Amino acid sequence: MTYLNSYFTKTPEKERSSAAIAFFAALDHLYSTAPSVATAIVQELQDQRAFLKMIASENYCSLAVQLAMGNLLTDKYAEGIPGHRFYAGCENVDAIETEAIELLKEIFHVEHAYVQPHSGADANLVAFWACLVKRVQTKEIERLGKKTLDELTPAEYEGVRQLLVNQKILAMSLNSGGHLTHGYRHNISSKMMQAFHYDVDPITGLLDYKSIAKQAQEIRPAILLAGYSAYPRRINFAIMKEIAASVGATFMVDMAHFAGLVAGHVFQGEYNPVPYADIITATTHKTMRGPRGGIVLCTNEYKEFVDKGCPLALGGPLPHVMAAKCVAFREATHPDFAKYAHQVVENARILSEALMQQGVKLVTNGTENHLLIIDVTPFHLTGRHVETALRQAHITCSRNAIPFDKNGPWYTSGVRLGTAALTTLGMGPTQMKAIADMIVAILKATTAAPTANGSSSKSLCSVAPDVLETVQHKVQELLVQFPLYPEIA
Ligand SMILES: *Cc1c(COP(=O)(O)O)cnc(C)c1O
Repeated sequence: MTYLNSYFTKTPEKERSSAAIAFFAALDHLYSTAPSVATAIVQELQDQRAFLKMIASENYCSLAVQLAMGNLLTDKYAEGIPGHRFYAGCENVDAIETEAIELLKEIFHVEHAYVQPHSGADANLVAFWACLVKRVQTKEIERLGKKTLDELTPAEYEGVRQLLVNQKILAMSLNSGGHLTHGYRHNISSKMMQAFHYDVDPITGLLDYKSIAKQAQEIRPAILLAGYSAYPRRINFAIMKEIAASVGATFMVDMAHFAGLVAGHVFQGEYNPVPYADIITATTHKTMRGPRGGIVLCTNEYKEFVDKGCPLALGGPLPHVMAAKCVAFREATHPDFAKYAHQVVENARILSEALMQQGVKLVTNGTENHLLIIDVTPFHLTGRHVETALRQAHITCSRNAIPFDKNGPWYTSGVRLGTAALTTLGMGPTQMKAIADMIVAILKATTAAPTANGSSSKSLCSVAPDVLETVQHKVQELLVQFPLYPEIA
């Protein structure tokens, strides 16, 4: 036990848990080979222990998940699916991947699951292309009287390719809370398909299903996509499915943010996408509380296309990440996970009510999920100002556009806050109210910096030092009560 040992622990060696001893030993080993990397990991742990993590897309996964991810499984190639691999010696990966798939089927009551996508963006690529191959390529091969893609002449294949890249998708606009991978111009999704977007209602900030239905009738997309990164409400998937069916579109749901809320039975009935969607994508690292990664869930109708995600859109699977996913899915089957998911949403509700009681304006005037968006314009600040000021106060969150934002996507007029990570630490209503007070104090104590020509800067700001210091103290007091990874304290 060397350098690292003394660097980040206050617990005497004799009193340490076996997890702590193993963790330090592993880091010590790493330190002897790559001191800069080991030091950065330890520094990251210390930073994460010093700030309130309110980035809505982040969480803390368990040490068990991390252990499953950080090991020799990374050395294995396993292209194909369990029992049908293009490499020898995949028995152990088969066991892990099969278990992960079965757990997802149990958690979500879904017909099929695919656990290879390396991220949420990759899961979306797999889903998009699985839809296109099923809807366009397969039909075209049949129309040409051929059996497989390989039988097509180069000219026939070129015809298929032209058709593939000429399909339409209708999804939520980035501005309204949609994601970059939903047809944003700087993402491949808008280059492989013609992308159309629906907005939220400019007054209520809510989805307007009637206008989505009207747009769908006009556009007649191949894919209707529901899902968001920054929408504080639930989506009625029964209505969305009806809209998709009325125009013959594949109904796809991207539940990257709220997969954990579905797994934890917070979103039920028409708010659970599983009974309605043809194909669902998600990340595993947001509310699912697993390793960084993606998954695709689908009906049996889409199974054979989704299972060919590699080589369709993916490189070889990451067995170590699939192992970590498997551990996280196992954790999600435990009743504690449902309790956790309900507490995440309850915490977000309490936080938003406490903020609104103090006059803070929220997009849609509240939340029904794990996130909320503050409209900071009444404080004469930009989202960037508030993100910076809160970080100085040791509260980490991300700036976010509000619908029809006048400050554009860089400065923005909002900040997005989430409760998934703090709930993992064990925080509840009392802490949410205290945090609301801290946020309001910072909002009131922050002013935009003046520029040389007399206007105010959209990025620079200053926070009253006494308020800043008080909030920093309060954050620290709170975090001492709710330590991150107490097993390795
Ligand atoms: C986070 C997110 C993604 C992308 O996930 P990555 O793992 O970062 O690729 C995709 N879709 C939505 C809606 C998201 O919120």
